[in-house]
Amino acid sequence: MRPTSMSVILFADSHLTTHETDSMRRAQPTSSLPASFPAPGHDHGPCLKGTLERAADVFEAKGLKLTPLRRRVLEEVAASHHALGAYEILERLARKERTRMAPISVYRALDALLEMGVVHRLESRNAYFACHAPHGKHAARQIVLACERCATVAEVAAPAAFDAIDGAARGAGFGTARVMVEVTGLCASCAASPA
Ligand SMILES: [Zn+2]
Ligand SMILES: [Zn+2]
Ligand SMILES: [Zn+2]
Repeated sequence: MRPTSMSVILFADSHLTTHETDSMRRAQPTSSLPASFPAPGHDHGPCLKGTLERAADVFEAKGLKLTPLRRRVLEEVAASHHALGAYEILERLARKERTRMAPISVYRALDALLEMGVVHRLESRNAYFACHAPHGKHAARQIVLACERCATVAEVAAPAAFDAIDGAARGAGFGTARVMVEVTGLCASCAASPA
């Protein structure tokens, strides 16, 4: 894959990325999930199941509840490897449940899911995607790959990239609090098929 654009976002605020929360460090590793970009047409059932199970564990470990609303929102986000905007999530829930909930309820649920690291934000598109891979102790060293054609989003470990960013920021006397790297381009499957 040849990235066509890449954005690196550094924030000097005091918030840690969701990748760096204790809850993710404590998340149970599940070894059966592939670390690579998800292939189109793969059996997504195990991805969804794994994500919902990890979410339940992470919320419980924090003494919090994966409420029915949070779970419904997570199920919509985790139904694919695509990033969805909050409005799209609201629409999907409305179509499914035939009742429209207040946007603030969806935003609150998303905030809780972000906080627990089971959902991440695709900052460049203001959208949300489910974390389908337990990151373990490398939680903060994932770059986000977003395919421009099929809209699939995946995370891959790239500790060296983060070391380089940390070093460059330190060299500039910058105290880094949060680093996100988002790369857009074409996934292998899209690159191999005609436009
Ligand atoms: Zn999947
Ligand atoms: Zn993740
Ligand atoms: Zn693609």
